[in-house]
Amino acid sequence: MGFFRSIKFQVWLRFEIIVACMLVFSYAFLVLFFPAFYEMMKIDEISRSLETIQSDWYDDDVRRTVETVAYDNKMYVEIYSPRYGVSLPFNNMGGAAAIANISKRECCAEVDDAETGIVYKRFRDERENNTVLMVCSYLGDRRYPDAYIFICSYLQPLGTTMAIFHRQFLFVAAVTAVFTMCISLLFAAKISNPIIIMNNAAKQLPQGRFNSRVRKRDFAEIKQLSETLESASKEIAKSDGLRRELMSNISHDLRTPLTMIKAYAEMIRDLSGDNPEKRERHLKVIIDETDRLSSLVNDILDLSKLESGVAEIHKESFNFGERLGGVVSRFDILRDSDGINIELHAGSMIMIEADPIKMEQVVYNLINNAVTYTGDDNTVIVRLYRTVERTVRFEVTDHGDGIAPEHLPHIWDRYYKVSERNKTHKRAKMGSGIGLSIVKNILEQHGFRYGVDSEQGKGSTFWFEAPDPLAPPEQPKTKR
Ligand code: ADP
Repeated sequence: MGFFRSIKFQVWLRFEIIVACMLVFSYAFLVLFFPAFYEMMKIDEISRSLETIQSDWYDDDVRRTVETVAYDNKMYVEIYSPRYGVSLPFNNMGGAAAIANISKRECCAEVDDAETGIVYKRFRDERENNTVLMVCSYLGDRRYPDAYIFICSYLQPLGTTMAIFHRQFLFVAAVTAVFTMCISLLFAAKISNPIIIMNNAAKQLPQGRFNSRVRKRDFAEIKQLSETLESASKEIAKSDGLRRELMSNISHDLRTPLTMIKAYAEMIRDLSGDNPEKRERHLKVIIDETDRLSSLVNDILDLSKLESGVAEIHKESFNFGERLGGVVSRFDILRDSDGINIELHAGSMIMIEADPIKMEQVVYNLINNAVTYTGDDNTVIVRLYRTVERTVRFEVTDHGDGIAPEHLPHIWDRYYKVSERNKTHKRAKMGSGIGLSIVKNILEQHGFRYGVDSEQGKGSTFWFEAPDPLAPPEQPKTKR
């Protein structure tokens, strides 16, 4: 069953069907319709001869014209005058006998009645055992003809010719069938072999391997398929590596707080249980670590929801300036504990069309990063303003270490963290590498532009822009 559905067989079969159709078509035309074609050709020939004679009728050497037509085309021509009852035959090769049984007067009357002034006849010449095609028409004026002309041509018997044709056709058909069978087999193999090879190679794709073996002579589509599979295998290998790295990152991120929680819980049990001051301190560590753990788990859940498209965005028009104030005030606690100063520059009435909860998450994550990576001035500047390009622009700037150019394209990837080794963060924080990918996902779902401008040693500004619904309508450009 599989063999009959294979490309090789199907290509071969279609090729054979085409060839068979072409042979049947040629047979119909060459052999079956041949007598009809032959007769049509003969009729055309005598019609053209008639036209020549009719147009030369008033020429001085019309006699030469008639003779040439009659002898060259092997036709019998007779010029007949019913008024005088005289006939003038040309090339009388028994043709006179052929039309002897025909009433010429009747024919002439038919010509007078015929709309075209031409009458065709087809009859058998028993004496010659042959078919005669005859045309009869007037000479000179249509209404008062000088005379009438009869042109006769024998239809050669086709029996022998047809027999030769038949035999020749069968021979050609047999040779063609064998020849096309071989060619189509080769052709089918040429198409299907690279696909079979490719398919075998593609079986290793799940392992991220693909050994493409395209040859120079292969079809362009096969080469493209091979390239596609090759890049797919690279992607699979890469995502496999990423998945492994990711698993180790996450398990590391989850294990660290768990180890701390366990260690402090044991300390309370064994050492500080009776000492309220120490116990409080140790319990605070446990609570902090639990918070970190749950925020990490929440982040992972948020991201996977966003990436799988489960988290839909519910757009509405809201005062972004107001909401931003609320988010910034959540960081007030850091002013006293860490001396972090957040400057907020936002207009009072800045509307945008977006999902308010998701936008809060975006600005929270960006401000949180700025606070974490802030510089010695402990200052984070948050700006929200309407631009002349009819957008609302949000910016958060810190004066920390900035981000090296080689890391810039990757910081939006999930679980990407710039190496912590040579970093001295203001706030001890072990990032998860998820914050920015959540930001990226939300902003892309909204279709907002976003980015970061960062200079090493000077700090970074993360920004995004949303369309401004309150922007005045665009002025039509006036031609000067
Ligand atoms: P993390 O939880 O590690 O902060 P993010 O996805 O929020 O994860 O950020 C990815 C990386 O981008 C961080 O590891 C950090 O190195 C870098 N980064 C983000 N924001 C800033 C910033 N304001 N200044 C310097 N580096 C930053």
